[in-house]
Amino acid sequence: MNFVKITILGCDASYPSAGGACSGYLLETDGKKVLIDCGSGIMSNLQKCCKPEELDCILISHLHEDHKADLHTLRYALDAKERKGLLHKKVDIYLPGNPESDYKAVTNKMEDSFEVHELHEDTIVKLGDMEVSFMNAAHPITTFSMKFKQGNLSIVYTGDSAPNPALLGFCQGSDVIIGDATYLKNNVPDNNKYHMTAEQVGILGKKAGANLTILSHLDPENDLKDYKKEIAYLGGDKLAIAEIGMSIEVGKEKQITTSQHSGFTKYEKTIVGCR
Ligand SMILES: [Zn+2]
Ligand SMILES: [Zn+2]
Repeated sequence: MNFVKITILGCDASYPSAGGACSGYLLETDGKKVLIDCGSGIMSNLQKCCKPEELDCILISHLHEDHKADLHTLRYALDAKERKGLLHKKVDIYLPGNPESDYKAVTNKMEDSFEVHELHEDTIVKLGDMEVSFMNAAHPITTFSMKFKQGNLSIVYTGDSAPNPALLGFCQGSDVIIGDATYLKNNVPDNNKYHMTAEQVGILGKKAGANLTILSHLDPENDLKDYKKEIAYLGGDKLAIAEIGMSIEVGKEKQITTSQHSGFTKYEKTIVGCR
């Protein structure tokens, strides 16, 4: 089956904006539900799309709080479902083993509801007929960019990443790229080791030949209008700014459609739009 749907549950960098949430994406394919990252606010938004106990797998790109803070509350929820007999199998979770103190803190007491796997660059995760591969990202702690391949469909999530020469090869030929576009080009720190700019993600998507590149991990300190302004000259039809509740579907003929997930109301969309 060639069909993948990704719903954006959160797209803020560092801390959630009013009504917003940090990194989190729900990927659905072949009857499987996969949560990619679990930052602040994701636990609430996830339940607008599915029950936590329906998750088959969780993939955590790295252990910065804006990507894993809600794992603790997700554990509370899954433990509650387990006690009620509603959790039919432990949820596989893959996450980097470093920094070790963070890994220990986050995996502590997970044994009742999770099957914990330490993530490495050569790890391959199989989800139905989808295969997920990983590449070290350019970020101060161990971080993985992820590629989801199913038949001739391919989607890349960069995770948090500074400009990384290896990323273009990893993204080449992808249908959809979700990229870390935290910075605007006029506010990049010296010796940047953290994130890309909106323009850099837009150019990455163009060079990689992606049919849709989504700028995500947006800094609540920046104005959304400035992200749009920065990429306007690249042409709009293959670039989009991430928005909570946005679903992206990639179909058999590689056709891509975007819509608002039915679990999210217009009210929330308005809050995001007003930011
Ligand atoms: Zn981040
Ligand atoms: Zn980070």
